[in-house]
Amino acid sequence: MEIDALKFKDILINIADTIEKNVDYLTELDAEIGDGDHGVNMNKGFKKIKALLLEKENNQINDIGEMLIMAGKVLLNEIGGAMGPLYGGGMVKAGMALKNKTSINKDDILTLFSNMLESIKSLGGAKVGDKTMVDTLEPFVNTYKLEVANNDLVTTFKKALDSAKTGMLSTKDIISKVGRSSRLLERSKGHIDVGAASSYLILEAFYNSILK
Ligand code: ADP
Ligand code: MG
Repeated sequence: MEIDALKFKDILINIADTIEKNVDYLTELDAEIGDGDHGVNMNKGFKKIKALLLEKENNQINDIGEMLIMAGKVLLNEIGGAMGPLYGGGMVKAGMALKNKTSINKDDILTLFSNMLESIKSLGGAKVGDKTMVDTLEPFVNTYKLEVANNDLVTTFKKALDSAKTGMLSTKDIISKVGRSSRLLERSKGHIDVGAASSYLILEAFYNSILK
């Protein structure tokens, strides 16, 4: 299965729509142990990305790497909170790795998410268990890497998504080590990390798009 540029654009738009539907959920999670801005910032950023992708002059873009760089720059340059630079930088790095690709296969999708994860880890310095988006993204990438040689895209993605979900849910029972919620020490326990939740929503929306 190959994903062409048109399909990839649909995936990004589906992610934007999914974030929009979940603004309140993300706001609630961030309000528990953060400052409550994550849902609003995510929505603001992805809404801009969607609008940009739908602009007439961008209809011609058929370079998937370029599309990701364009989207990442919106988050990086225009969106506040930790998520702007973390997701934005991650998307730019993933886009650079996929530059000049007009369609992507299951191996390219591994390249996309492993580059994004590496960027987030090197910028933020978080490891698995620190209660961040890394707790969702790293299990996803690890399972994907293990499964991709022996499975098709849909099966590989689903197995990786299941690991991502387990990782996201694991953040509920741990103490935050980095970011704003780490100031709460023990009190950060008992709540799912909002970045882990938004990463899961992004992956789930991606998966639902490839099923279509
Ligand atoms: P802020 O705390 O600045 O309001 P956001 O609300 O946009 O930031 O995002 C918070 C999320 O960002 C956290 O739930 C966590 O998943 C993620 N995060 C914060 N700091 C880091 C970091 N250093 N590395 C990885 N992820 C981080
Ligand atoms: Mg916040």
